[in-house]
Amino acid sequence: MSSVVVIGGGVIGVCTAYYLAKAGVKVTLVEQGEVAAGSSYGNAGLITPSDSLPLPAPGVLSKGLAWLMDPASPLYIRPRLDWDLITWLWRFRAAANTRTFRQHLSLLQVLSRYSLDLMKQMVAEENIACHFQQQGLLIMYRTTGAWQEGQKLAQQVAEFGVTYEVWSSEQVMTRMPQARPQVVGGIYYAMDAHVDPARFVQGTAQRLVNMGVTLATHTEVLDFERKSGRVRGVHTTRGTFPADAVVLAAGAWTPLLARRLGVSLPIQPAKGYSITVQRPEGFPELPLILDEAKVGVTPMGDRLRFAGTLELAGHSLAITPRRVMAIRRAVTRYLDVDPDAQPLVELWRGLRPCTPDGLPLIGRLPTYNNVVVASGHCMLGMTQGPGTGRIVADLLLERPPEIDVHPFRVERF
Ligand SMILES: Cc1cc2nc3c(=O)[nH]c(=O)nc-3n(C[C@H](O)[C@H](O)[C@H](O)COP(=O)(O)OP(=O)(O)OC[C@H]3O[C@@H](n4cnc5c(N)ncnc54)[C@H](O)[C@@H]3O)c2cc1C
Repeated sequence: MSSVVVIGGGVIGVCTAYYLAKAGVKVTLVEQGEVAAGSSYGNAGLITPSDSLPLPAPGVLSKGLAWLMDPASPLYIRPRLDWDLITWLWRFRAAANTRTFRQHLSLLQVLSRYSLDLMKQMVAEENIACHFQQQGLLIMYRTTGAWQEGQKLAQQVAEFGVTYEVWSSEQVMTRMPQARPQVVGGIYYAMDAHVDPARFVQGTAQRLVNMGVTLATHTEVLDFERKSGRVRGVHTTRGTFPADAVVLAAGAWTPLLARRLGVSLPIQPAKGYSITVQRPEGFPELPLILDEAKVGVTPMGDRLRFAGTLELAGHSLAITPRRVMAIRRAVTRYLDVDPDAQPLVELWRGLRPCTPDGLPLIGRLPTYNNVVVASGHCMLGMTQGPGTGRIVADLLLERPPEIDVHPFRVERF
């Protein structure tokens, strides 16, 4: 393998380029915007083996149906006649059962923990200034029912070696003095970490340049040059890049590229928002998930980020003010912090690449053997980026990956 073109400058693309370059491969990273132009920019930056849960969970559909028509709910599906969306939802429904959930939970656990170890190593070895901290994660609950459900889930996750502590409301208050009295309790996972996602991706990209990787930014991939069942090059808005192998790491846009190669990948874009404000004085270095509202709260140096909502509305990047407002309101129900009262740093939205069974797609294309797909990480792309990058490099270099990647293969659909 002498030259690889990696398409997509998000967390998956830069980590893949990193492990390939480390192995001495000539790499070109092609990105249509700046590095971290997609969902790797303003996400919550939570690196959470503990919260590595498949999206299709038992019961999520009945909840989803109630939420369906409410544009301010944590999950929203814009009603439309779209065959890809309909088949995606059908497959999602098929995966939302207890047995599949447990199986997929264990697979995501393994990948997330593998990836967390690699991220620690990368950040330390490459000295990437990205505010990486391993301070754990506190999930806060406002209702006893959700807290009990959370404890059941914690017991399941503990079977895979993830430790947790159940905290009373007093314990929550001690560690998070901004918690409102309505918070009934919490669950603390010590293993989890957090990071400034854009800085991690941009910092890695800087290292790539030092390692000899060609960064082709503002370069959009349009099509592929094919010959004898192999892709020989990538046609872009800035010319053709020859390639011995190609990696499709274009996040929510990956299916559009795969379609050019005759493959239909079931990845739906799931929009989410984040609001980043100046960090209020005294806010502890402890990231949170506000459970019922599905909102993440992450301290990032002198900033504090609130992120949430999942909206299946196609590739549109339009901002729906009502959904942003829903995040703000949710925060004030759990915390004595008003996002509106803090100076705004940035309002952002991004598209998560979501598969219907909750597992990423990592593997060779059945049609073109020298093309590897690395996408579909949905809510876990930051958590699983380094692990995925390492696996893709192993596949291309024909080294056995360190974890079982068969369940992530493309042909499962
Ligand atoms: C609100 C929100 C909060 C989140 N919080 C977390 C979290 O706390 N923890 C976590 O683990 N994950 C989180 N995620 C999920 C995470 O952001 C994604 O899973 C991850 O960023 C996906 O990375 P990626 O590299 O696959 O895609 P992206 O980061 O989207 O990168 C794909 C890149 O491909 C480029 N591209 C697309 N098409 C082309 C083309 N034709 N030519 C050239 N370039 C192209 C795009 O410009 C883009 O830069 C969150 C997501 C959202 C939206």
